[in-house]
Amino acid sequence: QAKLTGRNTYQLFNPHENQQTIEKHALLQALRVALQEDQLCLYFQPEINMRNGKVMGVEALIRWQHPEQGLLLPGQFLPVLADTELEIQVGNWVIQQAIRQIDAFQNVLKQPLFISVNIAASHLQSRDFVSNLQAALAAYPQVLSPSLQLEILETGALGDVRTISRVIRDCREQLGVQVALDDFGTGYSSLTHLRHLSANTIKIDQSFVRDLLDDPNDFNIVEGVIGLARAFDRQVVAEGVESEAIGQMLLLLNCDLAQGYAIAKPMPAADFIDWIAHYQPLPGWQQLAEKNLS
Ligand code: C2E
Ligand code: MG
Ligand code: MG
Ligand code: MG
Repeated sequence: QAKLTGRNTYQLFNPHENQQTIEKHALLQALRVALQEDQLCLYFQPEINMRNGKVMGVEALIRWQHPEQGLLLPGQFLPVLADTELEIQVGNWVIQQAIRQIDAFQNVLKQPLFISVNIAASHLQSRDFVSNLQAALAAYPQVLSPSLQLEILETGALGDVRTISRVIRDCREQLGVQVALDDFGTGYSSLTHLRHLSANTIKIDQSFVRDLLDDPNDFNIVEGVIGLARAFDRQVVAEGVESEAIGQMLLLLNCDLAQGYAIAKPMPAADFIDWIAHYQPLPGWQQLAEKNLS
């Protein structure tokens, strides 16, 4: 009966659910404004070649400079966007900003760098994804398409593997961009994804990397994933490298790239330019890498 008597009555029966719906709508509306008024921005976290210490590229990570609440992390606002039209708009904004920024980095730093952007599964599967990406790249002809990498979140919710697989192939073959499987190992279908999705790169999730030295299960998983990457001829990146010792172990396990607080935290574009000017490879890694090479 409650439903028939109208919204207000229904609200009384289900105050909690309604409160959540109201908050969700308010957050979505605030995000719409944020996109229009330039409150969203990208932070950049370096990825380095473990064997020679060189900075190879950056991952772009979204932030929301909220007028009242300060800097918000993606975990605080991305979930509300899931499967909305706004998720696609924000995703396209991220791609455009990333391409603009990698052009700026390359001009200032005079060195090749890649930029890696996180792509939501629903965005990847949206109708105009490939043509939008092509248009975004065409706006910066100096930016070579292999310097753009798409990170596809490796979760159970990836959706229709056949559609995703086709989009990934189109992105690689028609546009020449790179593709990475993000948070690899956390989804239920990691091996299916590895087999069906033609990614260049695998990113080992930080949950396996963090306790690599103390937890034998994590060690075995990391060793195994690096072995899989070798077998499938994929490049492998370790995320969440928080100490020099973890990095040394990853180097011994033959990991290619590393990303994490031991190298640098995500930072605004201007800070990254500053950081790279003063960057020195971690000495412990360098010594080990040189010993391994000789
Ligand atoms: P992710 O793609 O796996 O990104 C790595 C996350 O790990 C980032 O968190 C980064 O700040 C954090 N991290 C990096 N190194 C370390 C470390 O050594 N220790 C620890 N504890 N954390 C580290 P962030 O920026 O909060 O992003 C969280 C997630 O939000 C990302 O995970 C990604 O899935 C998503 N995300 C971020 N930006 C975007 C975006 O533009 N679009 C979409 N669709 N998702 C995004
Ligand atoms: Mg990522
Ligand atoms: Mg990740
Ligand atoms: Mg993650």
